Amino acid sequence: MIPSLKEQEWGLPSVRGRYTENAPLGEVGWFRCGGTAEVLFKPADPDDLAAFLAACPKHIPVTTLGVLSNTIVRDGGVRGVVIRLGKEFAGIEILPDGFVRAGAVALDGNVAQAAARAGIAGLEFFSGIPGTIGGALRMNAGCYGSETKDVLVEATAIDRMGGTHKLSPLEMGMSYRHSTTPEDYVFTAALFQGQPGQEEEIKAFMAGIKEKRGASQPIREKTGGSTFANPAAAELEKAGLPAETKVWQLIDRAGCRGLTIGGAMMSELHANFMINTGTATATELEALGEEVRRRVLDDSGISLRWEIKRIGEPLSK
Ligand SMILES: Cc1cc2nc3c(=O)[nH]c(=O)nc-3n(C[C@H](O)[C@H](O)[C@H](O)COP(=O)(O)OP(=O)(O)OC[C@H]3O[C@@H](n4cnc5c(N)ncnc54)[C@H](O)[C@@H]3O)c2cc1C
Repeated sequence: MIPSLKEQEWGLPSVRGRYTENAPLGEVGWFRCGGTAEVLFKPADPDDLAAFLAACPKHIPVTTLGVLSNTIVRDGGVRGVVIRLGKEFAGIEILPDGFVRAGAVALDGNVAQAAARAGIAGLEFFSGIPGTIGGALRMNAGCYGSETKDVLVEATAIDRMGGTHKLSPLEMGMSYRHSTTPEDYVFTAALFQGQPGQEEEIKAFMAGIKEKRGASQPIREKTGGSTFANPAAAELEKAGLPAETKVWQLIDRAGCRGLTIGGAMMSELHANFMINTGTATATELEALGEEVRRRVLDDSGISLRWEIKRIGEPLSK
């Protein structure tokens, strides 16, 4: 195969997978807007990925993404190489004793369904999260009282030198929607463990999650899930607010439900969900989020932490 321009210019290693220059990125994500990837890399398999990471010049930034259900790609696009894993990393394997192995690009919902069919309980919450296992490991994704770290036995990740690591939830420093795993580690797989359960009961529980989500979240919109994380109890108490106050209540109090900048809007259905009503740019989405942060700080003294990741460069003027 003829090396691409960037492959030559940047000294990227030859791979069995595929490089694409100027690849659509933001527009294939949940928000359906935002810039491109300077170079997109789809590795052929874990060995190809490890060889790429070992040989890719270290000054070239490398970013890994799942299905972008928690990410805004700024309009100027992402510099360097963006890794998106393909179907080679999407396998789901049911093992004895309630173990489930999943590739990093397996959808959380498919993992929940496979566990349910095998009579494994405990992974139902994954059915409520529209991302990949890689995203769940990075974000410690969770809902309705359960989170990824509760069922995770170990994750497999490859570092920037091409070395493979097996990491326990403790080693990954998993806390509320956060992990301290080094930013440049690429997750390739995870091993989970649930407990024995009845398929019908598990499926009924998952149906309940689906119903609740449908009623309370704009799941059919172009959105990115919760925009901001719930503040810690200590922070709320310091500001004279009840410890159990949720972020959507702070956004409501500050009058931001339905707030709009261009095509970006804080959802009327769930005040902490930001949506692209059709014409939003990533710049408008980010500006809206910053405006909400400013108004909430003014109103309640709480500085909101973005849960949605914002990556890439602003559009140059
Ligand atoms: C309608 C809707 C509802 C949602 N509800 C919930 C919810 O209830 N609970 C919840 O926790 N989240 C929720 N989310 C947010 C989102 O689905 C989760 O955060 C999910 O885990 C993100 O996965 P992703 O594949 O989309 O990750 P992306 O958005 O693509 O990436 C998110 C982060 O993970 C990193 N990442 C992704 N894959 C890898 C990998 N293989 N290796 C290393 N890093 C990686 C990225 O670098 C980035 O930092 C919701 C989103 C939407 C749109």
